[in-house]
Amino acid sequence: MEITHYLCIGCPLGCRLEVEHEEKSVVEVRGHSCKKGKEFAKDEHTDPRRMVTTTVRVSGGLWPKLPVKTRAPVPKPLVKAVCEELHKVALRAPVKMGDVIVSDILQTGVDIVATRDMPRVEG
Ligand code: SF4
Repeated sequence: MEITHYLCIGCPLGCRLEVEHEEKSVVEVRGHSCKKGKEFAKDEHTDPRRMVTTTVRVSGGLWPKLPVKTRAPVPKPLVKAVCEELHKVALRAPVKMGDVIVSDILQTGVDIVATRDMPRVEG
């Protein structure tokens, strides 16, 4: 039996979680103050995922960058690759909040969506 420690990112309390496991199989979770933390510890040990928020380039809009995010968490090891992929994106305004900017990014099954409107600026 092994012990691995994680820091819960479920809320600002930042509980220190202790996962007792055999390889990827979780036997017990300790140190959590709520059910959410227990689930986070199990997921973090077996399939860690993160939301990604960043910006992409846009031309013809009110601002040069459009904030975007993943619609759901992506596997943690792919976060850097997702950011690199989004760095290549160049859009034309207008864009509506919720528009899909990249569908099924890196075959994760997760879409990238705009998190605000980007109106077109005439001229
Ligand atoms: S275990 Fe619960 S209370 Fe503790 S940091 Fe995670 S979400 Fe917050």
